[in-house]
Amino acid sequence: MQFMNQTSNAIASRLIQLREKIFAAAHSAQRRADEIRLIAVSKTQSPEAVAALSSAGQKDFGESTTQEALNKIKKFPAQSITWHFIGHLQSNKAKFIPGNFAWLHSLDDLALASKLSRHAQEKSASVNMLIEVNVTRDPKKHGVALDALFNFVEQLLKADHPALDLRGLMTVGPHAAPEKEIRRCFAQLRQLRDACRQRFALPAFSELSMGMSGDYVEAVQEGATMLRIGTAIFGDRDYSK
Ligand SMILES: *Cc1c(COP(=O)(O)O)cnc(C)c1O
Repeated sequence: MQFMNQTSNAIASRLIQLREKIFAAAHSAQRRADEIRLIAVSKTQSPEAVAALSSAGQKDFGESTTQEALNKIKKFPAQSITWHFIGHLQSNKAKFIPGNFAWLHSLDDLALASKLSRHAQEKSASVNMLIEVNVTRDPKKHGVALDALFNFVEQLLKADHPALDLRGLMTVGPHAAPEKEIRRCFAQLRQLRDACRQRFALPAFSELSMGMSGDYVEAVQEGATMLRIGTAIFGDRDYSK
């Protein structure tokens, strides 16, 4: 067997340690750990690594390219895993989302929403949508600009996509920044979610996807409901594979 039990055990035990740390972070922020969903980001990782985590009870997995994800998705029974698409989505790949992914974390384009909506309806599938916001105003990042968010939501609602469920916001925190700056970014996303929920009367607009291996504690402190964590579970990614 190529994928050794040792590796599989190491991944499972890192998952347990991570869950304990998330629990502790939630506890000290006076939050309930069960309102925080851990998404294991399995991009570049093997199906065997996903299987190891799945047997250890992990349910949610995140991928960021369609081709790699589809190869993995078909190896697992449909009910066993909830798949999240967390990367930037090119509009010619929109057809791969409905039916394969329950969640899309990176909506930042109205034309993409229309395509997703059409494909979802054709497949009688629905997709939970998070709008990616470029909170740090980083030109290298994707996401809707801060001051464009209200208009973006307004246009989405006007376009009326019944197969797309608007569920909240997503962001990528500042890279290697001081703790204060990271928290400010995540707090801003929370305030934007609250503002959208109220302004557009969307009770289900409740999710905050923020926090990765390096900044999930700050994200929990600021109200994250979804953490996207790869390296802290799987170890370093090998892009050469
Ligand atoms: C890769 C990736 C992650 C996970 O990053 P880690 O630092 O490995 O935890 C989270 N979110 C997005 C959007 C990613 O592309």
